Amino acid sequence: MRRLLRVNLSSGLIKEEDISAKIAEAFVGGRGFGAKYVYDEIPPNIDPLGRENKLMLGTGPLAGTSAQSFSKWMAYTKSPLTGTFIRSSGGGDFGAWLKWAGFELLIFEEKAAKPVYVYIKDGKYEILDASAIWGKTTSEAQSYLRRIHGAKARMVCIGPAAEKLVRYAGIFSGRRTAGRGGTGTVMASKNLKAVVIEADRSENLADPEEFKKLVRQQVKGYKESLGFEPFRDYGTPMGVDMGNALGYFPVRNFRMGILEGHENISFMQYAAITQEHTGCYACMLKCGKVRTVPGGPYAGATSEGPHFETIWAFSGSTGCADLGATVVADHLCCELGIDTISTGNSIGFAYELFERGILTTKDTDGLVLKYGDPEPMLKLIEKIGSREGLGDILAEGVKRAAEHIGKGAEEYAMHVKGQELPGYEPRAMKALGMNYALSNVGANHCYGYAQQEMGNPRPRVLDPAADEDKGDVVKYNHDYMAALELAIACTFPGNNLECFGLELVAKMLAAALAEPRFGSEDYLWHVAEKVYNLERCFNIREGFSRKDDTLPKRMFTEPLQGGLRDGEVIRKPDTIIEEYYQARGWDNNGMPTKATLARLGLQEVDKDIAGFRS
Ligand code: SF4
Repeated sequence: MRRLLRVNLSSGLIKEEDISAKIAEAFVGGRGFGAKYVYDEIPPNIDPLGRENKLMLGTGPLAGTSAQSFSKWMAYTKSPLTGTFIRSSGGGDFGAWLKWAGFELLIFEEKAAKPVYVYIKDGKYEILDASAIWGKTTSEAQSYLRRIHGAKARMVCIGPAAEKLVRYAGIFSGRRTAGRGGTGTVMASKNLKAVVIEADRSENLADPEEFKKLVRQQVKGYKESLGFEPFRDYGTPMGVDMGNALGYFPVRNFRMGILEGHENISFMQYAAITQEHTGCYACMLKCGKVRTVPGGPYAGATSEGPHFETIWAFSGSTGCADLGATVVADHLCCELGIDTISTGNSIGFAYELFERGILTTKDTDGLVLKYGDPEPMLKLIEKIGSREGLGDILAEGVKRAAEHIGKGAEEYAMHVKGQELPGYEPRAMKALGMNYALSNVGANHCYGYAQQEMGNPRPRVLDPAADEDKGDVVKYNHDYMAALELAIACTFPGNNLECFGLELVAKMLAAALAEPRFGSEDYLWHVAEKVYNLERCFNIREGFSRKDDTLPKRMFTEPLQGGLRDGEVIRKPDTIIEEYYQARGWDNNGMPTKATLARLGLQEVDKDIAGFRS
């Protein structure tokens, strides 16, 4: 029987519960459990930062085994940034430890009266005083907890920015983070600073011999993948070179598609300053890289990163290809505990407002937000983390910040459903862009990454510039990621590099869990589609509909400047949206029809959304 731990932070009551066989079979695990419990347990229209919201931390059914890249973990909740369902994926080793402690899911309810952390060991659970680490950075808090509980303890924690309720704070395991959507902010709203687990390694597999054979097959797949070696050696910064070559690297708040001087932040530059390769539990790709800046104004700065998105967020936003500044920015965000994508995007927004005279030095405490100068960016990161001056406004995310600032600022807020756009230009890759528009969690590249626009033939290659005939592929990508995330498979080997496919995931699930249905790829596709629709229904209950499935106006009206996709706009968003809705079996307002819900085994949800249909 698979189990969860329910922690009431107000009453102090902690209890183990079985995940019923019915739920386990219908939702498989990982994101499937996240979507099911969030839908069932978080009532509509509550304040995401209020007591009624719940924070759930989950691991996958293959976590803690020798299967490669399956030991990540996820946070699920109602997002304080978007008001939608959010699932945010974190790395490190917490996922394996959570599994060894015996749980697929931790559910945190209510709010502690004072700062606390939860300690889990050998079937015992305690809510302990966190006053000594409240206000501490993520590294300080984790060092303290390691000192108290020993080097074998593993943990997740939040940073001081979450405590200030910056709406895009993340949850950290080591230097890896569930960054997007403000899951750390929800954790802080519950006065929960950390979760610490001590557990011994254990593998409880239904068919260990078959599982071992499948892991060997998986490892072979990694070694045979063309992308394996370069990704292992250089990591995600290769995206900088690719993004600029293909004209999808957003610059100056999504006006241009190529960054002047991008050679200075090429992956080779980062490789030259890499000292160590780090990875999540049981992952031979080790995409984390520890780097130290050797010279210049930021000499000596070090971080476990930056990854591609962070490099983009702190170079494209300011139009400044300064390698050292990206390392400093990465380190600052990690210590404060904030999402680098939302932070960089918010700062890019502020730079554009300053250029247009909507913000002046009166609003910025004297900072001159001039393109090409990364110094104000670094100061703004600190101001966001401490909610000081303009940082207090930007800490709300660009949507709320624009509403607060007024003077037409809304036009320059680059978000979908309140979540800031990541580092892929929608006009240069339109299936990827429309993935942002249609996603259940706001703009998120990993939620439905369009490999087909890079030449992947699964299910068919797409022309990145084409304006139609791609809605069904956007659906395919959303469902494919949802299927991989039933086992919380990492997107890099599972989707981007094609080190393994869904067929292998299905075989591994069947060998691990003795549930023959999980061995069918078709079954995983079916469950993934069900999960996607359930998340959508959560959002519908919150009032979301077709009107929210859109992109910033700039994408439709302002031609992209520079690079390979110079002059592109998204010409037919409605066409792609309608193709997508049709492929999904949704009505014209983006609502799953009664027949679609019945096909997916979600009949009981129909009554919740029937009143929202047009
Ligand atoms: S590829 Fe990177 S993020 Fe994914 S599991 Fe491996 S180390 Fe973690």
